Amino acid sequence: MFESVKKALGGVFDGLRRKGLLSQGDIDAALAEVKLDLLGADVDYRVVKGIIARTREACLDERILKSMSPGAQVVKVLYSQLTLALGGEGSKGLAVTHIPYKVMLVGLQGSGKTTTLGKLALLLKKEGHYPLLIPGDYGRPAAYEQLRKLAGAAGVSFYDERSGSLAELLRGADRFAREKSLDVQLLDTQGRHEFDEELMAELRNVTDLFHPDETLIVLDSMIGSRAIPLSQSFDRAASLTGAIFTKFDSPAQGGAVLSFREAVGKPIRYIGVGEHLQDLDYFVPERHAARIVGYGDIQGLLKRYDDAQSRTDAKEVARKAQTGKFDLYDLRDQLLEIAQVGGINKMLESLPANMLPRGATVDEGIAKRFTAIIDSMTDAERRSPGILNASRRRRIARGAGVEVTDINRMLKQFELFSRMAKMANNRHAGGFGLPGL
Ligand code: GDP
Repeated sequence: MFESVKKALGGVFDGLRRKGLLSQGDIDAALAEVKLDLLGADVDYRVVKGIIARTREACLDERILKSMSPGAQVVKVLYSQLTLALGGEGSKGLAVTHIPYKVMLVGLQGSGKTTTLGKLALLLKKEGHYPLLIPGDYGRPAAYEQLRKLAGAAGVSFYDERSGSLAELLRGADRFAREKSLDVQLLDTQGRHEFDEELMAELRNVTDLFHPDETLIVLDSMIGSRAIPLSQSFDRAASLTGAIFTKFDSPAQGGAVLSFREAVGKPIRYIGVGEHLQDLDYFVPERHAARIVGYGDIQGLLKRYDDAQSRTDAKEVARKAQTGKFDLYDLRDQLLEIAQVGGINKMLESLPANMLPRGATVDEGIAKRFTAIIDSMTDAERRSPGILNASRRRRIARGAGVEVTDINRMLKQFELFSRMAKMANNRHAGGFGLPGL
């Protein structure tokens, strides 16, 4: 997604980078190109206009024009503006604020609604919830069977009842959930090929009967900018609280994702990234913005050029490495950064062969799992991983939805990480030479 924008931005950025000092004209010319790139990716015109105007204003700040790396700074400002347009900082997953919490997914047929409901159930279960899947898609008989199988695969409860009216189904499911102490009710709804009067009436009816706390529209990324008017129609009928974009693994343009927040006024909460049950991610605006501008490279550049501040940071990391005072907060920071510069293997590849600990390749999904593990720890555990005994490891594994062996692997990797950092530090006295760190 956004590959063409990323490439084009790379060109604009290179052009700026070659200039020592930037003038207002340079910035305007670069932003004119960015504007075309975003429009080319099917981002809504008004949204593009807003992003460009705000970026321009922030770029004309003296400190940016006179900084040592003005080109990189411009992209940094653009990154901030894109993050804002995508919904601001922080993950936007569901927050279950009371029990029972009722969530309903709506969308056109084929958008991935039923599959996504199963994925969402699994994700909520990993967070410690007890979801109930309710088969409310009356229009598609196969949807009932599909949802039942998904519930089985995810290991969550399924309301196995299909006779009677929608009102009876919802009443029965609510009673069942209360009896079994299931805290989140997840309802599948009817989809159609197009938004029409009948679907609108159906949506109004189901909203009145279910009283959802969250109504999320499921949108296929491949439908492009059509997602915006479609969501507006759904919003009028069923008061949306957010969206889930599916098929993010497809080569779609992705402009609708960037337009969504501003045009529809609701947050994107999750993205579907594949056909498997675990392929649902929280939508993290800053990560998405970073991808659009190729922020890994930019951060690298900013680090190299930048002022004493980042050198102090690098020295701080080096100092910690030497005194052995690394903790899991440091590891998490590094994992996030490494993910942005192309993964751990890429980083390892760029180390001199004699610095590579034997067998030091890692699978790339691991950074994500490690981050989830660290996120499930208490502050004390992150600061002193030595206290992680077997029962703590079991508790964390449950919280992060991983196996204890994953935690053991992570701690091994943590040791390796500290050792590598020490080695790098000894080689480059006074400087910290590991790429990406
Ligand atoms: P519904 O009609 O909206 O309930 O759609 P389904 O849940 O049946 O999904 C339609 C198709 O999209 C199925 O083949 C799914 O496997 C596929 N699908 C759903 N989400 C994703 C995704 O994030 N990535 C990919 N590649 N396929 C997906």
